[in-house]
Amino acid sequence: MLEVRDLCAAYGGPDVLSSVTLEVKAGETVAVLGANTAGKTTLLRSISGLVPKARGTIAFEGAALLGRAAHTIPGLGIGHVPEGRHVFPRMTTLDNLMMGAFGHRGARDIPERVERVFALFPRLKERQAQMAGSMSGGEQQMVSIGRALMGQPKLLLLDEPSHGLAPIVVDELHAAIGEINRQGVSVLLVEQNAMLALSVAHRGYVLEAGHVVLSGTAQALSDDPGVRRAYLGV
Ligand code: ATP
Repeated sequence: MLEVRDLCAAYGGPDVLSSVTLEVKAGETVAVLGANTAGKTTLLRSISGLVPKARGTIAFEGAALLGRAAHTIPGLGIGHVPEGRHVFPRMTTLDNLMMGAFGHRGARDIPERVERVFALFPRLKERQAQMAGSMSGGEQQMVSIGRALMGQPKLLLLDEPSHGLAPIVVDELHAAIGEINRQGVSVLLVEQNAMLALSVAHRGYVLEAGHVVLSGTAQALSDDPGVRRAYLGV
């Protein structure tokens, strides 16, 4: 479904991604693990067309992504939930969700899309009239994920969804990511919380200083002594 080959990316200085090759198959949840500054966010931003100096190839269902304008990428079926959530703070939860459907085809089934998001995150239904800026961090993360789902993506890019959230909220999000995947959406999940990522993913890649240094099934990575030491704290 998504094939990234020899991806190099930079912001004007040295490369922050060097020859990154990875894939997400239809139906998979794939985790990308790595410490701060490993390049995880840059990888997702490159897929979404937000890193102008990205080189190499990125193909989504056979279509080349590099060189496309960023605003055309959601229409291909790729939803991006950015690091830091970025809800529209002075808009209600419901209006934030509606923004996620803006520019997507099939506008007539928008009420059904909203109901599907509410089924996944009942808290958002209760708080649909509340300004998103006054919601808790976890609720804002749900709004951000829900907004991306309103575009009915085939592939969801999730950037550190658990960042800064209490463990109980992280568990809730984790369950929601599993459910989203079971509903047929492939997921590329960037996380510093390796335990969370590997418990929900089928496969994973470890990124260090812009290089893929290890890849395998979630089970194999969880059992790897280097991964356990560096990322699982055991
Ligand atoms: P984190 O978890 O801290 O976000 P990350 O693995 O997601 O880390 P990136 O955010 O992709 O890493 O950053 C990789 C490198 O690129 C870092 O050295 C960072 O300083 C640099 N970088 C990221 N964004 C920019 C930018 N807009 N301009 C210049 N350098 C950037």
